[in-house]
Amino acid sequence: MIRKKVCLLGSFAVGKTSLVRRFVHSIFSERYHTTIGVKIDKKLVQVRVDDGQLTEVTLVLWDVQGEDRFQSIPTSYYRGSSGLLLVADGTRPQTLDSALQIAETATQSIGKDVPMRLLLNKADLVAQWEVPAPELLRKVGADFAPRVTSAKTGDGVDESFRDLTRALLSGD
Ligand code: GDP
Repeated sequence: MIRKKVCLLGSFAVGKTSLVRRFVHSIFSERYHTTIGVKIDKKLVQVRVDDGQLTEVTLVLWDVQGEDRFQSIPTSYYRGSSGLLLVADGTRPQTLDSALQIAETATQSIGKDVPMRLLLNKADLVAQWEVPAPELLRKVGADFAPRVTSAKTGDGVDESFRDLTRALLSGD
């Protein structure tokens, strides 16, 4: 059985917990509870890899406490991660800068070869985004294969987790 640890990282209230709840339990809540420390959830995912073979992976999702002082995320949280999901909130463009800084800090301890994806969350509120999505996506760059998601409607969520899972297996 293949198990892969994935860390969700990003500023507070960008939607990390909500994205995990949507992906793992297919639910969404408007209520906000700050994550204290780390929450761990698991999901068995089936993906088709490059050779067309169906592969089962248990994703072990670490939802790491949101902090804008990104240095304070203990490196022990992301040590041993096979991949990272960076999350930013489209309604707060500064959370994108934080996510990119977090990525840089994380790469220093886990290396550049770990697949990373960036999610621009809260797509259902796109009418309230100060900076248009294409502009934000351009800023991120292709390395992170950024996607727009909504934990509320589920848009892009499954695809994002599956895309990262495939990358974990093929080492992209
Ligand atoms: P975290 O601190 O990054 O884990 O953020 P949460 O998942 O706890 O979400 C913070 C707040 O944003 C909560 O009130 C959520 O209901 C809300 N939220 C999260 N994702 C979305 C989304 O895609 N759309 C909308 N409209 N609200 C969201």
